[in-house]
Amino acid sequence: MPLKLYDTLSRELREVFAMDGESVRFYGCGPTVYGPAHIGNFRTFVMQDVFRRVLETSGQKTYHARNITDVDDKTIRQSQAEGVPLNEFTDRWAKYFDKDCEALNLLVPHIQPSAVAHIPEQIVLIENLIAKGKAYKAEDGSVYFKVSSFEDYGRLSRLADREITTSITERESSDEYERESAADFALWKARRSEDGENYWESPWGPGRPGWHIECSAICMKHLGESFDLHSGGVDLVFPHHENEIAQVEANTNKTFARHWFHIAHLMVEGRKMSKSLGNLHTLEELSEKGYSAQEVRYVLLSGSYRQPLNFTFDSMKASRKAMLKLRDFATKFNFNPSRGSILETEFGPFLPVQEALLSDLSTPEALGRCFRLVRELGEALERGEFEGDEEAMNNVRRGFQATCDALGLLVEPKKEDIEEIPGAVENLAQKRWNAKQSKDWSMADQLRNDLLDLGWVVKDGKEGFELSRFSE
Ligand code: AMP
Ligand code: ZN
Repeated sequence: MPLKLYDTLSRELREVFAMDGESVRFYGCGPTVYGPAHIGNFRTFVMQDVFRRVLETSGQKTYHARNITDVDDKTIRQSQAEGVPLNEFTDRWAKYFDKDCEALNLLVPHIQPSAVAHIPEQIVLIENLIAKGKAYKAEDGSVYFKVSSFEDYGRLSRLADREITTSITERESSDEYERESAADFALWKARRSEDGENYWESPWGPGRPGWHIECSAICMKHLGESFDLHSGGVDLVFPHHENEIAQVEANTNKTFARHWFHIAHLMVEGRKMSKSLGNLHTLEELSEKGYSAQEVRYVLLSGSYRQPLNFTFDSMKASRKAMLKLRDFATKFNFNPSRGSILETEFGPFLPVQEALLSDLSTPEALGRCFRLVRELGEALERGEFEGDEEAMNNVRRGFQATCDALGLLVEPKKEDIEEIPGAVENLAQKRWNAKQSKDWSMADQLRNDLLDLGWVVKDGKEGFELSRFSE
């Protein structure tokens, strides 16, 4: 059964397939590496990962490219503030990003090209656009795309002209006063004194590429002039992806990406989680509060990617309980997780989970069905229905493995009856003990509640404390 996925361009569900008959070639706009990515960014990356996993677990090969944005206003500004060369600075944050991706169990893209490493390709693309009359050089040495030269402009975001000119984002508007029209966007930004040593030579003088051209040049080089699917958070529909289509299609006269996949935002109290609003959470901060990356992943899967998802600590607690249920199930069935290839797994009794995922990546429905099966199969096991039927047991294990693979969840059965206590939980308990020793009762109570929220009960003895799992 093929994956049907909503396409932002045609506004309908469309089957995803490999144009070359071999691999689904897709691109996800990657992180801007100037600080830790927040879990809003990770909602998008996790959903792109699920997209790939669902294809692969249904036997479809993929080729996944995700760039690293290692030059823009923010990376330059921040590296200068810290007095570190740009490449050293962005390298550090790119590594940090990789570490978070690993913790979240994201499959490593087949390639992760950097924007800086593709400046020559970006320059060629700009030269071609100028030669075709689709771009022009301004007096200061910047180059702009002439939006009026591309008839289809606005097709993806369906913006009227009026809106296009007034929706220019902050990222776009800075230092762009030489444009012929307010809608025109920068392909090349002339060097400014505040850029310091961060500039590259070009036929138009020293400067650096604009943000949009980077993804287009990388896609064309690594995925071809036409490829299967392009993706990002909804904030990228306009202007980033609209501009990408214009730059490439004005050059090639071919369809750039055949399918556009956008993920709705992770919100906090009704507002988009973002660095500029200061309402973000990072994996590191949540880990200090005692939550694991797998629990974060679960929360990010709990809502439909087409709808905004509100982040709350209650949902983190619910996610902890849900992950524990999966763990109990794995323990009962002597599940032994495998870390091998996920291509062509067998869902067996878990087929309804796969069907939900193949239907527009409906992760909440898939999780709902998974828990129904976990309950029913668990009850059947208790009734002795699997006794002596190793083949049926294996079917369940394979199906559960396929489900974990498709969702990217890591579920380990309990080893004996002893559960390791996470470091962060141990630290909180120690803090509480210290508070008690110094007779700070309200702090000690607060910390006891925090531990309870995390699913741990603390009991005090004369010499110290003991932690055990909270059970209802
Ligand atoms: P950036 O590092 O800002 O270039 O963003 C990386 C990716 O995260 C892009 O695909 C953004 O669209 C996406 N993104 C940013 N904020 C959110 C959010 N609150 N929820 C979901 N995706 C987001
Ligand atoms: Zn991009």
